[in-house]
Amino acid sequence: MNNSQITVTSPLLPNLSELNALMQKIWDSKWITNNGSFHRQLEKELAEYLGVPFISLFTNGTLPLITALQAMRITGEVITSPYSFVATTHALWWNGIKPVFVDIDPKTGDIDPERIEAAITPKTTAILPVHVYGKPCDTKAIQDIADKYGLKVLYDAAHAFGVKVNNVSILNQGDMATLSFHATKVYNTIEGGALVMHDERTKKHIDYLKNFGFASETEVVAPGINSKMDEVRAAYGFLNLKQVDWAIERRHQVAIRYREALRNIEGISFFDDMPGVKHNYSYFPIFVDKDKYGKTRDELYFQMKDRNVLGRRYFYPLISSFTTYRGLESAKPENLPNATKMAEQVICLPMHHQLSEEDIQRVLDCIVR
Ligand SMILES: *Cc1c(COP(=O)(O)O)cnc(C)c1O
Repeated sequence: MNNSQITVTSPLLPNLSELNALMQKIWDSKWITNNGSFHRQLEKELAEYLGVPFISLFTNGTLPLITALQAMRITGEVITSPYSFVATTHALWWNGIKPVFVDIDPKTGDIDPERIEAAITPKTTAILPVHVYGKPCDTKAIQDIADKYGLKVLYDAAHAFGVKVNNVSILNQGDMATLSFHATKVYNTIEGGALVMHDERTKKHIDYLKNFGFASETEVVAPGINSKMDEVRAAYGFLNLKQVDWAIERRHQVAIRYREALRNIEGISFFDDMPGVKHNYSYFPIFVDKDKYGKTRDELYFQMKDRNVLGRRYFYPLISSFTTYRGLESAKPENLPNATKMAEQVICLPMHHQLSEEDIQRVLDCIVR
């Protein structure tokens, strides 16, 4: 029996000889970072591919969060979701901002707009929602609240590469949106990320901030940081952009197989596609109801592990339960019943472009009895 390791993800890698040819160009030019030609080209092509007006490349997906908060001068308290990767809340902490956790909607895993208003105080300046697993937030309800109270909205769209609602990029929602191009994401530049904005002035400001605040050779306009993407990774990203549609379609096929096989398994639930949404199949979370399924999430998770099928308990534990944050009033589990439950039930199944039919069957054999 095949017992080789099935990992939860596998990086999309460019063809190595094509990459080498681009490396030769970079070596010949000796321009290896600081807004080189691959950086400029990738920004242009990503803006077109994603359907967004302006984008600024970053060296990872955390620094655009930190930089956007700086650029918008967000202070005080920010309302956010505990059901995310820890970088979302860390970005607030690095700006001296107090995170205020609001529970999620169990139907989507995203922040529940109906619970936002109750968390607003005179110190609230912004909302930082996450399109978790690439599932679009209720952006209209969130914007309505933001407009009513004069708040900024920054979306952590690290999971939402290429996601569209009624043919419009989800990245166009809010004041700005961030992306991560980490190796584990649908589209990667090894490490990398981006910030999406609506106008050229904001892009210019962000471009200054990611380069120490330099506006010209002698002028520093703000306490910026260094978070520029280099030429090597921009070239790698340029090649990966050509095959990302293919990779997303492969993931889609895996999702179809999983859904078929798991649809009628008592105690296992999952998300279906949403009407009008172009999904990217970045993750395939399942939720284990121990009373109906007869096993806890952890029992299933470790049984999979014994068979060399590596899921991930994504997102568990909740951000709000980590030492830095658990003392906050809003971090109490009683305040976050839906997120707490989801974190206790979730396993993300292996999901990537290289899963074979045999791999998929081995994953399913762990779950379907
Ligand atoms: C991956 C991720 C980040 C951070 O991105 P990096 O590129 O790893 O810095 C931020 N938020 C979410 C929701 C993520 O999944």
